[in-house]
Amino acid sequence: MQVSVDRDRCCSSGLCATNAPEIFDQDDRDSLVRLRQTVFLPSQFADLRLAAELCPSGAITVTEDIGTTPTQETDTAR
Ligand code: SF4
Repeated sequence: MQVSVDRDRCCSSGLCATNAPEIFDQDDRDSLVRLRQTVFLPSQFADLRLAAELCPSGAITVTEDIGTTPTQETDTAR
């Protein structure tokens, strides 16, 4: 999962940092969103999706990893 934040869209509501303080923070200088992590654990995925959903300015984008394509079966039993 990849997460990006758009500080130009952030309106400093603080909702993300309140709900997931281990992932999001607000910059001391301008109160705009700041990511604390760049790599996320599966146990954090639900919080990340919720943060993106709840962000009032749509500043959080969550991109799901594309699953691996199942390998095609090959007929080797001949
Ligand atoms: S919830 Fe959205 S608008 Fe509020 S601080 Fe986080 S990124 Fe910014």
